[in-house]
Amino acid sequence: MISQKLIDAFNEQINKEFYSEYFYLAMAAWFDSENLQGCSNFFKIQVQEERFHAMKMYDYVNERGGKVILEAIEKPEVDFKSALEIFEKAYDHERLVTSLVNNLMDVAIEEKDHATKSFLNWFIDEQVEEEASMDAILNKLKLINGDGMGLLMLDKELSLRTFTPPAK
Ligand code: MG
Repeated sequence: MISQKLIDAFNEQINKEFYSEYFYLAMAAWFDSENLQGCSNFFKIQVQEERFHAMKMYDYVNERGGKVILEAIEKPEVDFKSALEIFEKAYDHERLVTSLVNNLMDVAIEEKDHATKSFLNWFIDEQVEEEASMDAILNKLKLINGDGMGLLMLDKELSLRTFTPPAK
């Protein structure tokens, strides 16, 4: 049985993962409105990843005898000005999520819940990848520095991203 303190912390994180899904969908919508379908594709795949994160935690809470409580999802920002601004915000958001996952791990450690620590290791590793993937694109955008041809090439590259659900 998992402690109520951890169930509450998971429910909060599940809400944040759904918020991430919504935030990235808002970014995809902006790129769609700008006809940058590759960048939009990148964020639509990210949307699927965030749903996967939320559901992985959802399943875990149930598996451990807890109850998932869904709360309202905050309205995401929708007014963006450039691809660079969006990837800066996406990178900052992933850094925030990393700190939230670390906080969740801190609660598992306090509660001496070894199974939850083991479960959360996957998310700790995943956040390293999430930050690296946003940072890599952000760096390319800084090199592109507003050049239209460079942005079109990046857009083409990002059109190739596909979603592969990680093995459980
Ligand atoms: Mg996530």
